[in-house]
Amino acid sequence: MREFVGTMPARIEALPRDHRGFPVPWFVAWQDGKPLFPVLDPEKMRQALRHEKCWVCGQRLGAYKAFVIGPMCCVNRVTAEPPCHLECAQFAVLNCPFMASPLTKRTTTDDGTYKGQPIDKPAGMMIDRNPGVSCIWITKSFQIENHGGKPLWRIGPPHKVSFWARSRVATRAEVEHSVVTGLPILRKVAALDGPAGMKALDRQIGTFWELVDEVELPDIDLPGLMQEAVP
Ligand SMILES: [Zn+2]
Repeated sequence: MREFVGTMPARIEALPRDHRGFPVPWFVAWQDGKPLFPVLDPEKMRQALRHEKCWVCGQRLGAYKAFVIGPMCCVNRVTAEPPCHLECAQFAVLNCPFMASPLTKRTTTDDGTYKGQPIDKPAGMMIDRNPGVSCIWITKSFQIENHGGKPLWRIGPPHKVSFWARSRVATRAEVEHSVVTGLPILRKVAALDGPAGMKALDRQIGTFWELVDEVELPDIDLPGLMQEAVP
């Protein structure tokens, strides 16, 4: 039996497992009885939107939604992934191989397909790097926008945020590193809107750091951390 970090929620226990013993998230597409990770099933996206289903387990969500986002999405408050239950988000950041290990590269393909299946690309600007740090952003308020036929969630003020890396709470240094190395990408995009765009981004960055200051993060120095965390 595979070991997992933390308690596995019953909702995740109910999911099918892949050949390694990992629970297969609800959003993953299947073909010939095999999960096509990381291809997302467009029908699941429709159901998540229409019936407020959790992206990880597929069951109905309550009033509070937990968005699992990278630090850059905390700055611009936009994400292309539907929200989850808090316990599902928690299990995902602790155990998902991609989120728990900053060294795991995103699976990319040259021709836009994965194992012969077209990859359904998320809406908006996708930052193609592993941020090393995941944030769980809990909120009751969000708006869904349509970007070229694909949904984008504009997330409201957080009820609570937490930061995670390497199957544990992230350190302040990890959060700072992840944001500082990702900001040039956001600046490039903001520059397209001229000085007003840059000013708006500066405001968003300021708000983000105020938010981080309110979160209790372990302020420890882990040897070799910064070198390893570079994607
Ligand atoms: Zn769930």
